[in-house]
Amino acid sequence: MEYHDFTEEKTDSQALSAFYRSFENERSPVKILLKIFQGNYGKLVLSVFFYLLQASPVIILPIVTADIINIATEPEQYSLTRLIVEAVIMALVILQNVFTTFLSSKYRSLAIRRVELGLRAAMTRKLQQLSLTFHKEMKSGKLQSKIMRDVENIEGLATNLSLNLVSVAYYLISAIIITLIRSRIVFFFFLLTVPIAVLIVAVFHRRLARQNADFRHQVENTSAQVIEMIDLVPITKAHALEDTALSRLNRQLFRQAGSGFALDKLNAIFGSVSWVAFHLFQLGCLTFTGVLAYHKLIPVGDIVLYQSYFSSIVGQVAAVIGLLPIISRGFESVRSVGDIMWAMDVEDNRNKEKITDVRGDYEFRNVTFEYHDDPHRVLNGLSLKIHAGETIALVGESGSGKSTVLNMIIGFYRPTTGQVLMDGKDMTAIDMHSYRSHLATVPQTSVLFAGTIRENITYGMDYVTEEQLQEAIRIANLKEVIEKLPNGLETSVGEHGDKLSGGQKQRIAIARAVIRDARVILFDEATSALDTVSEKLIQDSIEKLSKNRTTFIVAHRLSTIRNADKIAVIKDGICSEFGTYEELMAKKGEFYRFKTLQS
Ligand code: ADP
Ligand code: MG
Repeated sequence: MEYHDFTEEKTDSQALSAFYRSFENERSPVKILLKIFQGNYGKLVLSVFFYLLQASPVIILPIVTADIINIATEPEQYSLTRLIVEAVIMALVILQNVFTTFLSSKYRSLAIRRVELGLRAAMTRKLQQLSLTFHKEMKSGKLQSKIMRDVENIEGLATNLSLNLVSVAYYLISAIIITLIRSRIVFFFFLLTVPIAVLIVAVFHRRLARQNADFRHQVENTSAQVIEMIDLVPITKAHALEDTALSRLNRQLFRQAGSGFALDKLNAIFGSVSWVAFHLFQLGCLTFTGVLAYHKLIPVGDIVLYQSYFSSIVGQVAAVIGLLPIISRGFESVRSVGDIMWAMDVEDNRNKEKITDVRGDYEFRNVTFEYHDDPHRVLNGLSLKIHAGETIALVGESGSGKSTVLNMIIGFYRPTTGQVLMDGKDMTAIDMHSYRSHLATVPQTSVLFAGTIRENITYGMDYVTEEQLQEAIRIANLKEVIEKLPNGLETSVGEHGDKLSGGQKQRIAIARAVIRDARVILFDEATSALDTVSEKLIQDSIEKLSKNRTTFIVAHRLSTIRNADKIAVIKDGICSEFGTYEELMAKKGEFYRFKTLQS
């Protein structure tokens, strides 16, 4: 299906940056809500205009009804033609509703769906710009709920505000004006509803808000725990802990049910009290207007007129009261979306040198580093020089900082003090985005997306020839694997690549790295989770791949790094030994100790 109103040009970068600006320097959810609708106000105004027409029959019908009753009860005073004319006009007013309902919904939806789309597009784009640290700290489940649930709540808020507030204002104002014209006494009677509504809201508002917040909190906790439980299923099953996992979740389910029940009870009391109050009042109005008609102060038909308005006012006031929870939930969601939009942890590539060519020389000069939330020094004056085209193996105990060094080469982290130079340039002065297109990484566990093997290998490459692809498959030792699969390259991997073994996934990741033809390749424990046969295959690929490229390898099995040009031992935050395999073995130091421990 084609959706012409929602093409990508219409959500261009200009519109996206407008969404960013809506959140910039703005903390008030109401103002943000007004700002994110900028550019769509025309549609909202059109929608309101058509809504006024759409709803007009409900306002005009009581007048016509009253008139017809008055004409019927006073035949000597009015002619029958007048009755017919009123009926025909009324029919026309009713008929136009077909078109105006459609048009008002169409424009409202167009505005709201575009804001929804733009907000999600802006959020996901922002997520791509935020640093790894941000992503590590914010759970993916939370982010997902922000992008899906909170945007939906904002959409609900916008729909309700634009619909209900307009309609409430419309009914109230027209009822008041018409009543004022027809009978001033009844108008003052109507005014009495205001203090009654205020009184009821005042009694219940605080309690309702508190109970709503509590319930929302419980719903969020439940969904967090369900996701946690699902993630833990393999471990739970393996340890036969199903009952423990279930009882943990059950406690939360019971809490949510309890909170929901309390909310329902409160809503029920609130609903019945307001229903009874308003209906008693309506009965009072009926009696009052009945007495007025009895004394011929108003015509009989007007009793129906006032009753209609009164019940629509009561309905509207009830609707506004019912809106309270939706409004508070919606504004809460604006704040929740702000958690992403306000996050400052963004890489700044403005005014930095764009990199078109990477040779692959690196130098660490006296680098110290600590993670921002942790005063413990991970690197403590590390110096290291790597020449283009070399294969460097990083060796060290777990937690010694090897991954940290690789992440600095990727540019995810910056030295706290000291410098990292790439081709002689300070890494802090270069445009990371342009630089990283020359890198390829193979992490410990590779992430495949739901798609075919071909798509996974060529991920992010616009154009790849069949020869390049075959070459990548050859280097990654994937040929046999692919030949055995029912659809070859077109076989789709499971959502997380679960249909392939760890070794096969790693080789797909290697093929992905090969096809990028990167100048610098980083393997961070790419073989650590694999059996020796798979490791051998991958080791072989690494060797083919690392020719003429700067290659960093972190591996625990020393056999994997036997062929590296240089080995760097990372210990106590510095590079404690550096040299070829033979040199380090001869030195009989730290590396020698590792080696003898393993053999
Ligand atoms: P290696 O890869 O050699 O096992 P890492 O570079 O991953 O070691 O970690 C080095 C040290 O930094 C460890 O003590 C680890 O606990 C700490 N560390 C790693 N990542 C973070 C992080 N995101 N925040 C705080 N500390 C971290
Ligand atoms: Mg590591």
